[in-house]
Amino acid sequence: LEEKLRAVELMVPKTYDEVTYLNYLKKKRILITGGAGFVGSHLVDKLMKSGHDVVVVDNFFTGRRKNVEHWIGHANFELIHHDIVNPLYIEVDKIYHLASPASPPHYMENPVKTIKTNSLGTLNMLGLAKRVNATILIASTSEVYGDPEVHPQSETYWGHVNPIGPRACYDEGKRIAETLTYAYAKMEDVEVRVARIFNTYGPRMHMNDGRVVSNFILGALQNNGITVYGGGQQTRSFQYVSDLVDGLIALMESNYTLPVNIGNPSEHTINEFATIIKGMIGGNSEIKHIAAMEDDPQKRKPDIKRAKEYLGWEPKVSLNEGLKKTVDYFKQELKLM
Ligand code: NAD
Ligand code: UDP
Ligand code: UDP
Repeated sequence: LEEKLRAVELMVPKTYDEVTYLNYLKKKRILITGGAGFVGSHLVDKLMKSGHDVVVVDNFFTGRRKNVEHWIGHANFELIHHDIVNPLYIEVDKIYHLASPASPPHYMENPVKTIKTNSLGTLNMLGLAKRVNATILIASTSEVYGDPEVHPQSETYWGHVNPIGPRACYDEGKRIAETLTYAYAKMEDVEVRVARIFNTYGPRMHMNDGRVVSNFILGALQNNGITVYGGGQQTRSFQYVSDLVDGLIALMESNYTLPVNIGNPSEHTINEFATIIKGMIGGNSEIKHIAAMEDDPQKRKPDIKRAKEYLGWEPKVSLNEGLKKTVDYFKQELKLM
């Protein structure tokens, strides 16, 4: 197949049949775990539009059928209701492994389940990748750096994580997922990719997922006030979801096997962020402060040199542009427009 593909790539397709044949050879069967969630559903859209066969596996813990319902019935699309903590036997060429709760209130709701999903669930997906000889991309996180003592965070930093704190189920869950991934790469020659994803926002974020972007937008739109946890001097760097999807695909298609940060380095304090959202939405929401979250990372900003050098990737969407699209989505969901 590889030989045929090379031969066809060398020829410039002229006829309809040649173009169809080229597309047929390039078409892949791609599994997206957590594909009914926020990030996963945008990845589904992009891969479906590129003509691939896409299989979504999701247990609908935080994802919604609605996020992918526009593809249901399409010949290239399949939706499987399945919990990845249990083994899964299917045939695929590539695996984007995104299944895991992602927002602090969700992953803290059932810490044992969060650990099982990231450890047993990842083990199962690695076992699947090994059996069918698929390339697997793991959605890791900036949380592997914990409350970092190095700023900005590059991939060579080992992190500063409290192993028994309230965030540990997620942070350590993702760290064991990375460890398992490199153990399978070493022992079983599984082709692996690891994306360390930084804070991402955009349409289809869960309305009540408790993350700062959705909370601040909802608070401002409903005039319920914007609540900052702690002093608000802690920082985050927000990336728009289309940039993340482009980065994940670029990483999967590269031959780079070490972890890569995928995030937008534009950094803001949470106080600044509250002011930006209030300014954009208007209204008379008051910005209030309540107690800080335990173990809340104080500074976070990705060093993206690696992604630039090895993937030729960098974010394109500005905070202003991305937030406008996100606010419009929330207005539609709230039937305000
Ligand atoms: P999300 O909650 O919207 O999506 C996660 C999806 O996984 C949901 O559809 C959920 O139902 C599914 N899922 C959870 N446990 C499962 C299980 N045991 N079996 C099958 N499906 C399961 O979150 P998201 O923001 O789209 O995050 C996607 C991935 O990216 C996650 O792995 C997350 O850790 C990672 N990530 C996201 C961000 C971000 O800012 N959004 C940042 C860093 C890392
Ligand atoms: N696994 C799976 N789908 C597959 C192959 C394996 O879910 O197609 C699971 C399997 O149940 C096992 C895990 O992946 O628990 C690890 O698989 P591996 O083959 O590495 O381990 P073994 O089965 O030898 O313990
Ligand atoms: N945060 C806040 N108000 C909220 C939700 C979050 O001040 O309503 C703060 C939170 O304490 C953290 C930052 O915003 O410092 C980002 O929180 P989020 O839960 O979005 O993501 P994470 O902490 O995982 O980066």
